[in-house]
Amino acid sequence: MLETTVAGSLPKPSWLAEPEKLWAPWRLEGNELEQGKRDATLIWLKEQEDAGIDIASGGEQFRVHFVHGFLEHCDGIDWDMKTKMGIRDDRYVVDVPTVTGPVSRKYPIHSDEVRYVRPHAANKLKFTLPGPMTICDTIANAHYDTRPDMAMAFAELLNEEAKELEALGVDTIQFDEPAFNAFMKETVEWGVDALNAARKGLKCTTAVHICYGYGIKENIDWKETLGSEWRQYEEIFPAINNSDIDQVSLECADSRVPLELIGLLKDKDVLVGAIDVASLDVETPEKVADTLTRAMEFVDPERTLPCTNCGLAPLPRDVAVGKLQALGAGAELVRNKLK
Ligand code: ZN
Repeated sequence: MLETTVAGSLPKPSWLAEPEKLWAPWRLEGNELEQGKRDATLIWLKEQEDAGIDIASGGEQFRVHFVHGFLEHCDGIDWDMKTKMGIRDDRYVVDVPTVTGPVSRKYPIHSDEVRYVRPHAANKLKFTLPGPMTICDTIANAHYDTRPDMAMAFAELLNEEAKELEALGVDTIQFDEPAFNAFMKETVEWGVDALNAARKGLKCTTAVHICYGYGIKENIDWKETLGSEWRQYEEIFPAINNSDIDQVSLECADSRVPLELIGLLKDKDVLVGAIDVASLDVETPEKVADTLTRAMEFVDPERTLPCTNCGLAPLPRDVAVGKLQALGAGAELVRNKLK
C-alpha cells in the first residue's frame, strides 16, 4: 500500500549538464556523453531506492527536453522551419519546429535506455513519454488537416514505442500531459481520445501526469492569474475518469487545487503530489504525511501513490535528494498510522 513514485525528472549531475537550469545543453560529447547519461541514471536509481521510492523513474537523464527527446527521433518534422508559437495557451512564446509530412519513428527511440536501466533497477521501473496533446502544443502543424489529426498520428507512434518498452520490462508508462489543464475544452473534445490511442493494448500500468508546471518564473506568474482556487481539473477529470488510463498524477502540495476534486477520479489510482517542486525548502516527513492524509479523505488509501508534484530537474541536487527522502519517510509515517 502507498507505493511511492516520482512524477518526472531529476536534476542532471553538474558534469553532465549545467545544474539548476531547465533544458540545459550537455557538457559531454560522443561516447563520453552516452556513458555520462548512463552513469547519471545509475546515481538516481540508487538515490530513489535509498529514499524508499518504490517505482523509480528511469529515462529522464537521457534527454534534454521531455518532448523534443522523443520528437528529434521522428521523421516528418522540419527542425529548421521554426514557427513562433505561444505554447501552453500562450504561457511561453517559443520557436518550435514544424511538422511538414507524415510523422514516423526513425527507429525504436528509448529501447536501448530501458535495456540498460531495467537490470539495474531493484524495484519497479517507470518510463515517461510526452502525451500526444502536449506534443501538439510543442510543435507547429503544416501538414495535418487539424491538430486532433496530428495528435492521433503521434499517438500511434507513442503506442508503438510504449509497446516496445513494456516488452523490455517497464512496469509503468506515464504520459506527460501538462497541456491538459491549459486546454480544458480540447482535452475533453480530443485530448483524452488521443491519450487512449497512445495506451491502446498495453498491459503494463499506465499513468497520465497533469500539472501546473515546473517552478519557473513563467509558471509562477501564470499561477498568480488563476485565482484563489485552481478548479481547472474539475472540467477535465470526468473525461479522464472515463479514460483507459490507470493512474493520474497531480499536484497537491502547496497548490491551490481543492483536494475534493480528486473525488472525481473515483475509478483511478491517484499519484498524490506531496512534494512542492517550486520551493527550495525540503518538506518534513510530517508535512508530506499531512498532505497525503488530507488527500486520502477523497481517495482510498489502496488507490493512493505518494508522489512529487512534477519534475525536480531545476532544483539543486541536494535539495532534490532531500525531497525524495522526505517523500519516502512521509509515506512510511502514513503506512505506520494505517497499520
Ligand atoms: Zn509536471
